[in-house]
Amino acid sequence: MLDLIIRGGQVVTTWGVGDWDVGIQGEKIVSIAAANSITEEAGRIIDATGKIVAPGGIEPHAHIAAPIMGPGNNTTAPPDQVSRAALFGGTTTLLDFAIQWPGIDINQAVQERTNVWRGNSYADYSHHLMLLGEIPSEILGQLHEHIEDGFATVKIFTTNIRPPSMTGEPRMVGMGHLHDLMEQIQRHSAMLLVHSEDDDMVQHMYRKLAAEERTEWWNMHLVHSNESEDVSFRRVLKVSEWTGSPVYFVHVSAMQGLAAIQESRAKGMPVYGETLHNYCCFNADNYKEENGMKYHTYPSLKSEEDRQALWNGIVNGGLSTMATDEYCTSWEMKISGRTISDVTGGHNGAETRVGITFSEGVSKRGMSLQRFVDVTSANAAKIMGLYPRKGVIAPGSDADIILIDPSIKKRLAMGDFHITDYSIWEDFEIEGWPVMTILRGAVAVEDGELKATLGGGQFLRRKVDPAVANKPVC
Ligand SMILES: [Zn+2]
Repeated sequence: MLDLIIRGGQVVTTWGVGDWDVGIQGEKIVSIAAANSITEEAGRIIDATGKIVAPGGIEPHAHIAAPIMGPGNNTTAPPDQVSRAALFGGTTTLLDFAIQWPGIDINQAVQERTNVWRGNSYADYSHHLMLLGEIPSEILGQLHEHIEDGFATVKIFTTNIRPPSMTGEPRMVGMGHLHDLMEQIQRHSAMLLVHSEDDDMVQHMYRKLAAEERTEWWNMHLVHSNESEDVSFRRVLKVSEWTGSPVYFVHVSAMQGLAAIQESRAKGMPVYGETLHNYCCFNADNYKEENGMKYHTYPSLKSEEDRQALWNGIVNGGLSTMATDEYCTSWEMKISGRTISDVTGGHNGAETRVGITFSEGVSKRGMSLQRFVDVTSANAAKIMGLYPRKGVIAPGSDADIILIDPSIKKRLAMGDFHITDYSIWEDFEIEGWPVMTILRGAVAVEDGELKATLGGGQFLRRKVDPAVANKPVC
């Protein structure tokens, strides 16, 4: 006897899309067959007629219970709030960051994250390691054991992001340290996540715009510019060529960044690009609106031409994942910074990512359902070392499954969101939205109600397939 059958939905698999039944036993998918052909008894049968049946979304880039840059000891929303909203939006796995601050080692960074998350998540989760500034050799020496232990991904920044007076701990990793880190990443078949901007250019523009008295927030894209992304991506890619290290560029925002990625991938380099759904749906003109800093996520929104290029990369290839850079704050906090130096970054989009990608990608741009699954789930699973446990509807995989109703047409309202007190997606017109979320065989959200239990989310150890670290596979 099966525990659950999802009957007759349009199921998206790696070998095709069809009206099929999905059989679930315990936490795993055990069978996929023609509609109405699974005749075994089941504890429950869900009629998915007319719905899209896809793997649960995987959010590869989220800052959860993370210290907020700037004055005060504020943090972004904690795991219970973000994981709950994520499940409502069809995301079943969240990845955030264990930060190795100066003065602590990687063990302590991991312990800190474990304390924050254990028992406090509705969704499954894992942590990238984050290294800051000048990486000490003893920290580099510790990396191997943590990669072996399931922390397969490391994030760094090539910029301090903000002016020196605002940054707190220096974040920028210089090219020499980047080289040494890339050697370790390559040797141990891990994955390197890079926030790539040219710090000289960024800091120069902060000073220049201050001197010109043009520090209003809507000039942010002049600081975090297309040229800075272009120059920095190409430097990072050069070091990747020297070391053979794979690179995953977080939040690609400019057409030049995308072009650099595509050129490297054409040469067979293991290079992957992520963009954000707010970068795909808004541009730097939106900064000019009243409180238009609400749209801001570092580096910055760019031009309409960039926005179209990013969609092209998501729909037709070149970019591998749609993420959020989740960084959930209150409205008051989000609009408190009003200059290029103090705007609060990040985006409370963990809940909207899957639905917006479906609506804008599949419904409005004709993206294939398989490509939709790739950019919202499968590719993140492959690149971050969760595949095929996660990211695919196949026998043996975790039964993380979402149902999307493609017939829903509406404007999003505050009642559609389950986190914080504002959303940049309020009033956004959508076509198709997730209506049911299943996590490891258990219904987590149904009919707008949360069924999951706090603490039900599991920590995930990860290992990057050497094929993913050696050439661009997705
Ligand atoms: Zn981020």
